[in-house]
Amino acid sequence: MEKKYFKLISLLLILSIFGFAQKAPKNVIFMIGDGMGIAQVYSAMVANGNKLALEQCTYSGFSKTYSNDNFTTDSGAGGTALACGVKTKNGMIGMNPDSVAVESILEKAEKNHLATGIVVACAVTHATPATYIAHQVNRNMYEEIAADYLKTDIDVFIGGGRKYFEDRSDGKNLTNELKAKNYKIAYNLADVKTTTSGKLAGLLYDDQNPGMPERGDQLPESTEAAINILKNNAKGFFLMVEGSQIDWACHANDANKTIKEMLDFDKTIAKVLDFAEKDGNTLVIITADHETGGMTIVNGKMGTDSLTVFYSTKGHSGVPVPVFSYGPGAENFSGFMENTDFKQKIEKLLKLKK
Ligand code: MG
Ligand code: ZN
Repeated sequence: MEKKYFKLISLLLILSIFGFAQKAPKNVIFMIGDGMGIAQVYSAMVANGNKLALEQCTYSGFSKTYSNDNFTTDSGAGGTALACGVKTKNGMIGMNPDSVAVESILEKAEKNHLATGIVVACAVTHATPATYIAHQVNRNMYEEIAADYLKTDIDVFIGGGRKYFEDRSDGKNLTNELKAKNYKIAYNLADVKTTTSGKLAGLLYDDQNPGMPERGDQLPESTEAAINILKNNAKGFFLMVEGSQIDWACHANDANKTIKEMLDFDKTIAKVLDFAEKDGNTLVIITADHETGGMTIVNGKMGTDSLTVFYSTKGHSGVPVPVFSYGPGAENFSGFMENTDFKQKIEKLLKLKK
């Protein structure tokens, strides 16, 4: 080869590698299947005819879920690790083991002028969503956690838990305070779906959301609505979405219900991946805070939900959970990770400064 061509090709190669390495996401959608281990994923895949939307993810890995004081984490410590990047004591929300508040990735994104959101299939005050926005020593402090929503400028939150805002022991009505901060309050899914801009508090149920199939398309459609609002922000957004009740189905050792909750979560994942594919600047990460039930599948028939499933506990197990990722930066979420690694990796990719 002539020397000048070699030089040119080398230069082009260096530029393309450099360009690829520099490809950073503008938006991050972080999806948590509460209690979602490999058996939970596979049970839904089998029942769904050997396919799930999450298979479109291009990278996969594992997250180690042990907490500061327990081999087996709860959703408080598990969520705090994912949201805030610290291992804490079981039951704690957004705090380190010394009860000192630690900033979450959502709060940091908000501070850096990204739009932010939380969409869940449970009360917005429940442990997992709480770890992204609240700082409390105990996950059961639902009214205190509701009040913490007022301390941030989160753009969208949708789930249940209306009573912790409106029917409180201190007599306050926090939805009035939310309205004063220019939030639209939506009490039903139809109102959520017609909102395409501004700030939105979707308090769709008095306490916890119903399970599947009673919940209908609340999670996928709320997620789609949240994306439609958040994508208006030119600086990008951070959205946390939780398939909250996979965990509850597994505490009940109910494989049929687990499959229904998993398929609802996967339907939500399909909508998210569809947006990410079209957008091209959105990183999607799907993982769990822990596995629930010690679920395993010893027999089944592809395309049916008649599986032979065993559980080893009515509680959580200590095994690592799967991680799936898609979009710019997805390659950073493969192999074995600590559950505390996500926050740092995301803030680096989103170039969050302060
Ligand atoms: Mg949860
Ligand atoms: Zn649980």
